Amino acid sequence: MELRVLGCSGGIGGQRRTTSFLLGEQVLIDAGSGVGDLSLAELSRIRHIFLTHSHLDHILSIPLLLDSVFDQLEQPITIHAQAHTLRALREHVFNWVIWPDFTALPSADLPVVVLQEMAPGEEVRVGDCSLGMIPVNHIVPTVAYVVKYPDGIFVFSGDTTTNDTLWEGLNALPRLDHLIIESAFSNAERRMSEISKHYCPQLLAEDLRKLTHQPHVYLTHAKPGEEEMIFNECRQLIGDRPLSHLTGGEVLAL
Ligand SMILES: [Zn+2]
Ligand SMILES: [Zn+2]
Repeated sequence: MELRVLGCSGGIGGQRRTTSFLLGEQVLIDAGSGVGDLSLAELSRIRHIFLTHSHLDHILSIPLLLDSVFDQLEQPITIHAQAHTLRALREHVFNWVIWPDFTALPSADLPVVVLQEMAPGEEVRVGDCSLGMIPVNHIVPTVAYVVKYPDGIFVFSGDTTTNDTLWEGLNALPRLDHLIIESAFSNAERRMSEISKHYCPQLLAEDLRKLTHQPHVYLTHAKPGEEEMIFNECRQLIGDRPLSHLTGGEVLAL
C-alpha cells in the first residue's frame, strides 16, 4: 500500500501543489491542485474522495476531475465529507454557475458523482483500509482522517490550529505510525495563524506535547517561500521526535 503525495503546499508556484493524497489507486484524501499531475488513466481509477473541509485549496480539482473522466466511469465517484462541506459543494460549486451539477449528470439515476455524508465516529471501509474522522479546529468545520491500513495507522490532520479533539483522538488509537500535520505559518506570523486557524511551529510544538504515541511527524501546508524557515523552527522546537518536511511527489510506503 502506498500513499502518494500529490500536493501538500499552502499555495502554488513552481513545483508547489495544494493538498491532495492518493491512497492506493482508488482513494483521494482532499483534491487540491496536485490532482492535475495524474494521468488520465490514473484519474479514471479514482472511486472515492474524502474531504477534510470546504476550502478551495482542498477541493479545487474536483470539478475538472469529474469533467475529465465522466465518460469513462462505470460507477460514480463518491465524495465523503461532513454535511457542511457537502452543502458548500452543492451551493457554491455544482450550482450551474461555477460548474454543472454533476450529481444529476448525465442523469439523476446514474450520476458522475455521489455526495455521501460522513461524521466523526463513522468508519468507511475501502478495500484493505478504513477511514474515520476526528474533528479539528479551523475556520470552517474540518476533520482529520484516521486511516487504518493492514500494517498500521496514519493520520492526516487537515487544516487546524490548537485544539484538544485531535490529540485526544490520536491518544485513543491503539497505535500511530505516521502523523501528517500542518504548520502553515512561521512563528513571526503566529498572530496570523491564530486568526486563520492554522498552526505555527510554537503552537504545534505545544500541542505535540499532548501526544503519547511516537509517530513519524510529517509537516505540510507551509506558506510558499517559507518552507525552510518553518521547518527549521519546527526542528528546533520538536527536536525530540522524528520529523520531516513532506514535499509533493513523495511516496510513503505503508
Ligand atoms: Zn482551510
Ligand atoms: Zn488549506
